[in-house]
Amino acid sequence: MSQEKILVVEDEEDILNLLEYHLRTAGFQVFTATTGLDAVKAAGKHHPDLVLLDLMLPGMDGLEVCRELKRERQTSDIGVIMLTARGEEMDRVVGLELGADDYVTKPFSPRELILRVKAVLRRLHAEPEPLSLWERDGLRVEEESHRVLVDGRDTELTATEFKLLSELVRNEGKVLSRDQLLNNVWGYQFSGYSRTVDTHIRRLRSKLGPYAAWVETIRGVGYRFHS
Ligand code: CA
Repeated sequence: MSQEKILVVEDEEDILNLLEYHLRTAGFQVFTATTGLDAVKAAGKHHPDLVLLDLMLPGMDGLEVCRELKRERQTSDIGVIMLTARGEEMDRVVGLELGADDYVTKPFSPRELILRVKAVLRRLHAEPEPLSLWERDGLRVEEESHRVLVDGRDTELTATEFKLLSELVRNEGKVLSRDQLLNNVWGYQFSGYSRTVDTHIRRLRSKLGPYAAWVETIRGVGYRFHS
């Protein structure tokens, strides 16, 4: 099951609750924020796959939040869908300087919104990565197509989980510290987000079935892949 993370940023409580409800129902893990500042903090903390970002927010507005997310290395790969009542201005926002991935105008149909969210996530996850194929016993990692097969079955990994697995596999037998993983997988240049690594490792393991134990915890240091 997909447990991609969505951060919803909206200051109107009714809309926030509605979005949260529909996204959870669709199987997403949902975080919320009601101001721009909290949104930036939450994005750094939870590293969502995508942010649903209201344009009109008190204080720091949606455009500033989007610019900030896309500028910072640690959050620049997060997808952004702008929510707005001002549809006519959005072509510029999406296409040009801000780098939002899509926009949805209010009022929106929940079904349409979920489709747009899924489309953006698909696009983000389809980004090509170099490299090839790794296979042992029943675990197969296809770097080019971003596929992971566990005993012949396709396993859905988020883009981050896939990168994490690739990094571990590429460094088979070597202990990688949480900071190294943050650096190489997330692109963070500083420590302090080690729980992010642990959370993703946990989720990755849960998707590897009988091969979960190949991702070994090295107490006090980090992780090592061995098959
Ligand atoms: Ca608003």
